[in-house]
Amino acid sequence: MRTSIADRNQREHVCIVCEQEKKEGIFLFGHFLCLDCNRAIVQTNTDDPNYSFYVRQLRKMFTSKIHS
Ligand SMILES: [Zn+2]
Repeated sequence: MRTSIADRNQREHVCIVCEQEKKEGIFLFGHFLCLDCNRAIVQTNTDDPNYSFYVRQLRKMFTSKIHS
């Protein structure tokens, strides 16, 4: 899985999970994931109710990939 750290000086990007504009985050498959969500996903257990939300949001990355 290739990731890259977003440049601090770049314009803000819209996070694929929280859908808010954030300056810091990583790019996954060409989509922006903010640091807050990245950290939250890592710390969320698979049996946590929030986990399904994150998975659903992240799934958008893969579905949108099909159309590109
Ligand atoms: Zn986010």
